[in-house]
Amino acid sequence: DKACNGESCPLARGFYDRLDAARSAALAGPRLDRATVREAALAHDVCPYYLAQELARWADVVVGDYNYYYDSSAMLYALTQINQWRVGVLVDEAHNLLDRARRMYTASLDQAALRLARNTAPPTLRKPLERLQREWNALKRAQTASYEVYADVPGKLLSAAQNLIGAVTDQLAEAPLSIDQTSLRFFFDAMHFVALAEQFGEHSIFDITLTTDRHAPRDKTSCVLCVRNVIPAPFLAPRYAAARTTVMFSGTLSPHHFYRDTLGLAEDTSWLDVEGPFRAEQLQVRVAGNVSTRWRDRDRSLEPIVELIARQYTAQPGNYLGFLSSFEYLQRVVALMRERNPDVPVWAQEPGMDEAARDAFLARFRGTDQGVGFAVLGGAFSEGVDLVGQQLIGAFIATLGLPQMNEVNEQMRRTMEARFGSGYEYMYLYPGLQKVVQAAGRVIRTEHDEGVVHLIDDRYRRPEVRRLLPRWWQVQ
Ligand code: SF4
Repeated sequence: DKACNGESCPLARGFYDRLDAARSAALAGPRLDRATVREAALAHDVCPYYLAQELARWADVVVGDYNYYYDSSAMLYALTQINQWRVGVLVDEAHNLLDRARRMYTASLDQAALRLARNTAPPTLRKPLERLQREWNALKRAQTASYEVYADVPGKLLSAAQNLIGAVTDQLAEAPLSIDQTSLRFFFDAMHFVALAEQFGEHSIFDITLTTDRHAPRDKTSCVLCVRNVIPAPFLAPRYAAARTTVMFSGTLSPHHFYRDTLGLAEDTSWLDVEGPFRAEQLQVRVAGNVSTRWRDRDRSLEPIVELIARQYTAQPGNYLGFLSSFEYLQRVVALMRERNPDVPVWAQEPGMDEAARDAFLARFRGTDQGVGFAVLGGAFSEGVDLVGQQLIGAFIATLGLPQMNEVNEQMRRTMEARFGSGYEYMYLYPGLQKVVQAAGRVIRTEHDEGVVHLIDDRYRRPEVRRLLPRWWQVQ
C-alpha cells in the first residue's frame, strides 16, 4: 500500500543517507544472495529492492531470472544502457526463453478488474475510466463469437486507454494513489497493455475473449482484451545488440532456424553442437508405434499403454516416470494401472502442487521402494529434475507433446505460417518434441546411468519426427 517515495514509504525515506552502511553490510559476507540483501536492508531500514539494484552496480557477475534483462522494464538492461556497461549475457536453458518472452510481451485486461477500479478510483480518474468502459462495451456488443481476433488494436479503445494512463500519471505526479491493490494492479496492467498496443505489429495478435455464462447479465459477462505476442524476436533483438555478446545454452535448441526466427537471433549467429558425454548404449529408445495418443483415440490407447508399462516393470523392476499430455489423461491411465496391476506401486502428479508436495513426489524415487510416478509432460517434473542411477531407470512418454489445438493456438499457428511458412511445425511440432526430449533426458543424468525410454505414439515412426530426436539416441 505504499509508493516508492519518501513521503509514502519509510524504506524510501532517507534511503541515500543509509545506503552506504547498508551496502557495506551486504558486501561484508562471503555470498551476496537474496537473504543477505534482505537482512542488510532490514537492518538499515532501506528498501531491499532498491538496495539490490544499487548492489548490481558493484557486481561483476549477476545471476537472475530472464526478466531482469529481457522484460520490457528490465532493470539490468536499463542499467546497462544508462551506464554504458559492456556486458556478456549467458542464457541458461535457452529453449525456455521463447515462452517466457512471449509472456513478457503479452498484456491482457479483464473488464471485471476495470469495474473494481471504477468503484475505488479517486474522482479525477472516474471520467477516463468511464470512457474506457464505454469503448470496451461497444466492442463487446459488436462481437458475436466468444473468441475473435482483430487486425489491429481498435483506435478508440487504445485512445481511451492512453487517456486513462495520462490521467493516472498526472495524478501520481501530485501524490501517491491511495487505492486498493486490485485497482493498482489494473492501472499497471493498463500501462503494459498500452505500451504493447502502441508497438503492435505482425509479431503479435489482438484478440477479445468473452465468457459465455448464459445466466449472467450481458454487462456482467467477462470480457478480456489481449495483445498476445507470438514472435518475440523484434523485442529481444535490441537486447542482444546492447550486449557485447550473448551465449545461449540448451540441451534442446533445435532446429536452429526455429529458434533463430522466433528469438530474433542474428543471421550470423554461431551454433556450436557439443557432443554430449553419454553413449548410445546407455539408453534404449523404443517406439510403441501401434498406439495413437490423439484425443479421439484416447479410450483405445489406455489398455496398450498400461500393458506396456506393466510389461517393462515386470521385466525390470525399478523406478520409472510416465508422461501424459494432460491431467485428465494421466488420471485415466493411473486408474487403469491400479486396477490391472495392483502390485505395481504408482503415484501421480496433481494440479497445483506446492513445493512440499513436489518434494514428496520426488522423494519416492529416492527412497527404497520402487514404482512408477506419473506426471504431465511440460510440467514440474519434466525438466530440471535430477534422478541419478537407480533412482530412475526409465520413462514412458505417451504423447508427442503437441500444444492443445484451440482457437488461440490456431491463431498463433496462422501467424507463424504467414511469417515463416511453417505454422504447424513452429507452433506445434517443434515445441512438442522439445518437451519430449527434455522429459526423456531425465533418465540419463551421468555417464554411469543406464535406462530405457518408451516413445508411445504411431507418429514416432515418421521421419520428420525422428529427425527432431537427439542424434546420439539409437531408436529401436
Ligand atoms: S518497493 Fe521499496 S521503496 Fe517501493 S514501496 Fe516497496 S519497500 Fe517502499
